[in-house]
Amino acid sequence: MHAMTETAENASKNGKIMSALIERKVCPACESGKFSTLFKEKFSDKKVWKFIERKFKNPENVRDLLADGNYELCKCRSCTLIFQRNILSDEYTSQLYDNWLIDEDAESELSKEKLAPRQLAYFANEVLTIGRLMKRPHHEIKVLDYGLGRGWWCQIAQAFGFDAYGTDLATRLVAQARDKGIKAIGVTELNTQRFDFINTEQVFEHLARPLDVLRQLREILGKTGVIKISVPEGRGLEKRIPLMDWSAPRWDKRYLVAATPLIHINTFTQRSIAAMAKRAGLNALTVPIRHHYSLCDTSSLHTIGKSLVRPLYRRLIGSNYVFLQAS
Ligand SMILES: [Zn+2]
Repeated sequence: MHAMTETAENASKNGKIMSALIERKVCPACESGKFSTLFKEKFSDKKVWKFIERKFKNPENVRDLLADGNYELCKCRSCTLIFQRNILSDEYTSQLYDNWLIDEDAESELSKEKLAPRQLAYFANEVLTIGRLMKRPHHEIKVLDYGLGRGWWCQIAQAFGFDAYGTDLATRLVAQARDKGIKAIGVTELNTQRFDFINTEQVFEHLARPLDVLRQLREILGKTGVIKISVPEGRGLEKRIPLMDWSAPRWDKRYLVAATPLIHINTFTQRSIAAMAKRAGLNALTVPIRHHYSLCDTSSLHTIGKSLVRPLYRRLIGSNYVFLQAS
């Protein structure tokens, strides 16, 4: 609602739309008003613009809407979340995900048209982990994929016998999922439902008001229900920000995908996820490590190694992959 009001204000200046941007005035994870600017540069700056040209179908159309706006990264002094101060209004965020981005360049695995078998195996292992955690027959476990993308996760959960639902802010994706036989529902229809498990895979980094969304999800969670949050890793980001190179690959020391302009607008660490969860009435849940080995991908030595090491790494080093339960 907050965002809508500001959009209206922007629109009313001189009777035309001045900007598609709104300003976030508190930390979107913990609501603290104390934060400092880490970095600030115009969207029209050469390096930022290079990113927009690479990701957007018609960058020229966006240029006027961003006008004099700044790509500004702030860090919350309370929970350490790094967030973009100026983001697209709700109205333009819909435009962004429905029309503006180049389809073939989808970042999240769930948004991709085609999925590598190893990725399918990863999701299969994940849904089996949920089954073990809930200690009930799969068909009695009602799961929701919040941000269903192309519907991969839902289809896998369905294939393993779960009562699987999916939703997405992009209405076009909800309609497409229904055509694939997925029980896809609109975000506004969620209130009447209760779920045992809510999956959010690469979703929270995109949200204008992540705490509000987490509170809404908490409301539709069954009594012993669990919410999973998986977001890009924000550790070590601060050193890489001044380089402003969003094309660097994952292994590169300049890798900056966790803070892409207008897209990954929240960059979390474990600490900021925990702070946000606490405010939403949720606590971290420790999943017994053996549950994570429900289905080991033994197709190659590489995948065996990865399947074995990943859960241990998450436990010992920590990661932005967490399970939350009502506190
Ligand atoms: Zn904060």
